[in-house]
Amino acid sequence: MIIAITCVIAIVVLVFVLGVRPKDLPEPEPVSPFAHLDERKAAIYENLRDLQFEYRVGKLSDNDYQLTKKDLQKELAGVMAEVDRVKLQLQGTKGQAAAVAAPQSKAKVAVAVDSLTCPHCNARFDQELKFCGECGKPMKAVRA
Ligand SMILES: [Zn+2]
Repeated sequence: MIIAITCVIAIVVLVFVLGVRPKDLPEPEPVSPFAHLDERKAAIYENLRDLQFEYRVGKLSDNDYQLTKKDLQKELAGVMAEVDRVKLQLQGTKGQAAAVAAPQSKAKVAVAVDSLTCPHCNARFDQELKFCGECGKPMKAVRA
């Protein structure tokens, strides 16, 4: 009897897991379309800062530092691409969606070319960054 119940539970769990794949679920409506992306971006920046700190105090080898930094920058690029995608979507549906999102997103859309170049090390980025991905110093453009 116990075996039978266990089997039934196992099957139910299996069907549930297989039946409701994350892909099929509709995306939960975020409060702001950028909120979760901003959070991820902030987390990556924090990791970069921590990494830089640990490297400076000698906790990390040069190789480890470079590898981890590259990983974080790749992740950051992914988040930035996602932000772009959301922006394009918002621009594409200028109707109600844009009206809702306009207040926060307007300022972020206007990016001067100059703000893409680090004033400290002259590294250039495709995206506006709060902190330079190369030297970690704050970039010129500070978002409101
Ligand atoms: Zn820099």
